[in-house]
Amino acid sequence: MPIKILPPEIASQIAAGEVVERPASVVKELLENALDAGATHIAITVEGAGKRLVEVADDGCGIPADELPVALSRHSTSKLSRAEDLFSIVTLGFRGEALASIASISRFTITSRTSGAESGAKLRVEGGRLGELEGIGVPVGTVVRVEDLFYNVPARLKFLKSDRTEKIQIDKLVTRYAIAYPAVRFHLQQDQRSVVQTNGSGDYREALAALFGLDVARQMLEVYAQEDELGIRGFISPTSVSRSNRGDIHFFVNGRPVRDIALTTALVQAYRTMLMVGRFPMAVLFLDVPAQAVDVNVHPTKAEVRFKQSSRIFTGIQSAVRRALLAHTPVPELGESLRWTSPETKDDRPFTASLWGREATEENRDEPQQSGEGIGQITGLETPLLRLVGQVATTYLIAEGPDGLYLIDQHAAHERVLFEKFMGQRSQEIPSQVLLQPITVEVSAGDARLLEEQLPALNRLGFAVESFGPGAFLVRALPSLISNMDPVAALQVLVEDFEEDEAPLGSEVESIVIARVCKRAAVKAGQSLSTEEQRALLEDLEACAAPRTCPHGRPTMIHLSVDLLERQFGRKGAR
Ligand code: ADP
Ligand code: MG
Repeated sequence: MPIKILPPEIASQIAAGEVVERPASVVKELLENALDAGATHIAITVEGAGKRLVEVADDGCGIPADELPVALSRHSTSKLSRAEDLFSIVTLGFRGEALASIASISRFTITSRTSGAESGAKLRVEGGRLGELEGIGVPVGTVVRVEDLFYNVPARLKFLKSDRTEKIQIDKLVTRYAIAYPAVRFHLQQDQRSVVQTNGSGDYREALAALFGLDVARQMLEVYAQEDELGIRGFISPTSVSRSNRGDIHFFVNGRPVRDIALTTALVQAYRTMLMVGRFPMAVLFLDVPAQAVDVNVHPTKAEVRFKQSSRIFTGIQSAVRRALLAHTPVPELGESLRWTSPETKDDRPFTASLWGREATEENRDEPQQSGEGIGQITGLETPLLRLVGQVATTYLIAEGPDGLYLIDQHAAHERVLFEKFMGQRSQEIPSQVLLQPITVEVSAGDARLLEEQLPALNRLGFAVESFGPGAFLVRALPSLISNMDPVAALQVLVEDFEEDEAPLGSEVESIVIARVCKRAAVKAGQSLSTEEQRALLEDLEACAAPRTCPHGRPTMIHLSVDLLERQFGRKGAR
């Protein structure tokens, strides 16, 4: 066949395929247009999972009647005029493709009126063919009505997921924008049912509840960090709440929802050792960066971005999230039902604060956010925070703290202590202890391959291990921290655990190796400890940056507050 330029309808259908993957994409584009138009109220009506109807009505600036036909042609936008503008985009739209694309694959009606105009205008488009422009009396703003999406590209209809899935996609999408724009009133109706409704009060928590449910929303921790031109704010789940996948991690860059694996990874890594393996946090995080520092023109759906200084952004996220987590991780209380304290009087405050106070002064001396609530009031950091009372069931330590009684799981606590000491040593060379006699360890062929892969990481961590013929390894030295551990057990734990889940990558290997070795090396439940050992363990735990969970996310301690004790003994309250 000879080469021809495609007729405009076909060209725009092809382009539409990139922008409009599914009904939710239509909702997204129309929402973004309404937000760019400065709307304060956006009503979205959906029928038949968006295939029958998507209508978005806004009270934004409107489009002048004579510009309506232009707005519907491809590459027409009011948001860019020069090529340079592409590098400082402050609107959600800029590609000038959405309306044309949507109109080419649906029965499309746009009605609009600007505030200066006496009346509005209406334009119908069917499968990309423009109808007549009609005058019409309407309020200021724009209504876009998209009926029978994909009616002329039936193949696309076939690729859609079930109605249920498409509906959920739309719900989630609208909710995400509602969170990002709390000052805008959103209303989403699907098949005559109100699904999302916000009041535009500017309250993030309300919109959060729509995304995560009331219970989780109430528990979400606030993140706030501003460093030079990078702002990070939003909400993250506490370590007590998690999901089995990354689906509830939402990032917004300059008000635009984006999918970015690197951002997600930064967040997940900040939770490392605080969540159990295979569990993921929930988050809604807004990054504010100068428009010139981010390239939003990477993908037709504008869902991906590229940062000029990505590593700064990732470390910024990690430290902001880490800080919020450390400031909030509570000591679990015994018996939820026994709690009488009102939410204002947080029993664990003084304790929490003083532990963090230590970390705050060492690491982040000059960061003002760190001296947030509670931390400023600490005095007497030198005095021991936990006074040892004794050991029960050769498994738990009992200690008295500033506000009542603490039960400490000796294994979990020691695991945490070892882990942090290890991680702390990682900045320099990790001290190792040479074995009096090298020990040969034999493993299966499969395990040998796994160990082989880990050898560089192991040797960086203070082990001296080398291959010693097929299926055999020679251990010459162990990290000093675990030098009294059986070398065979130390290697065995690595292959065992790596078999269970998929082998991790890069820098993750080291911290996982450390966590696993520490678990095996830590004192066991049932092991009796001398008073000196018990006391040393408490002191080491106090010195930890994250003393309240073991590296796998289980609690190291349980708190029985004086208040709870008094109530249980009938000294106070509840008569
Ligand atoms: P883009 O948003 O990338 O500019 P669109 O095809 O989505 O491209 O829209 C084309 C133009 O139509 C926009 O630049 C804007 O001027 C106008 N427009 C679209 N929707 C609205 C709306 N809801 N309110 C006001 N103007 C709108
Ligand atoms: Mg647009």
